[in-house]
Amino acid sequence: MERCFNCGQELSKDDVALCKKMLGRKIKQFFCREHLAEMLDTDVDALTEKVEQFKEEGCTLFL
Ligand SMILES: [Zn+2]
Repeated sequence: MERCFNCGQELSKDDVALCKKMLGRKIKQFFCREHLAEMLDTDVDALTEKVEQFKEEGCTLFL
C-alpha cells in the first residue's frame, strides 16, 4: 500500500495510478489527491475528472 509522501494517508489504486500518470511512471514518491493537486497547482475536483477521463480512454494504469 502506497502512502502520501506529504501526509502519510493511504492511497487508493486510482490515486497511485494518477500520480504515475501525472508525474511519470518511475516516481518513487506518491501523493494523495489533495497534495497532488497542490503540487500541480490544480484542485481535487479537476484531478477526479482526469481520473474519469483516463479510465474512459482505457489507460492501462487504471485497470
Ligand atoms: Zn497527502
